[in-house]
Amino acid sequence: MSREELYQLQKLDARKEKLKRSAQNDLETQEVLKLTKQLDQLKVELETKEEEIMQLNKEIKEKEFENARVTRKEEEYKNKLYGETNYSPKELEDFQIKLTKTEEVREQLEEEILEMMMILEQKEEELGSLEEKMSSKTDKIEELKEKLMNKEESIEMKLNKIKENKLELKSRIEEDLLEKYNKLYAKKNARAVVKLEDNYCTGCRMTLPRNLIKKVKQSIEIAFCENCGRILYWEKEEE
Ligand SMILES: [Zn+2]
Repeated sequence: MSREELYQLQKLDARKEKLKRSAQNDLETQEVLKLTKQLDQLKVELETKEEEIMQLNKEIKEKEFENARVTRKEEEYKNKLYGETNYSPKELEDFQIKLTKTEEVREQLEEEILEMMMILEQKEEELGSLEEKMSSKTDKIEELKEKLMNKEESIEMKLNKIKENKLELKSRIEEDLLEKYNKLYAKKNARAVVKLEDNYCTGCRMTLPRNLIKKVKQSIEIAFCENCGRILYWEKEEE
């Protein structure tokens, strides 16, 4: 008689499936996926920002180069105007006009450079905050992965324990009965062994004939529900 063992076996199978399901639809797994997606998005933003900063630096350098050239020009005109050279009044007037023009260009350039520097500073700040965000997301992902790994390990251990217990139980069940159980378990939505309760089968709710109930309660041989075909199990009341 291995009905009790079959009932225990079914409990183990149910626990095994529940554990496997919990490992799959894990909240932490979902969270890791979500965070990884966000991290990828941030990486794209970071690369764009770095590209912008590089471009801006290049433009500033060009402007500074241009500024240096204009400043040299300015010095040249000043030397011509105020140095000890012999230029005609017409030429001096011409130098003065050119000097004024050059000064205007230089001031304009300096203003532009200043503005670009300010934009650069802002972009660098944004880059820093992006890096901070990424690093906090990376930390969070690592932390969750660690947790998940521990969880998986513990699930693995529980599954192994279940496997051991199942083997022990199976060794006490006749082989053909075990085969019937497995078929029923697959076919009957993980409920192969069901309790007899108040004279009806808890698998299909059908009231059972008296002689079958007697057979189940006597526990001499395995009894099946006449309606749904499940193995009937009866728990003796505590006396
Ligand atoms: Zn039934």
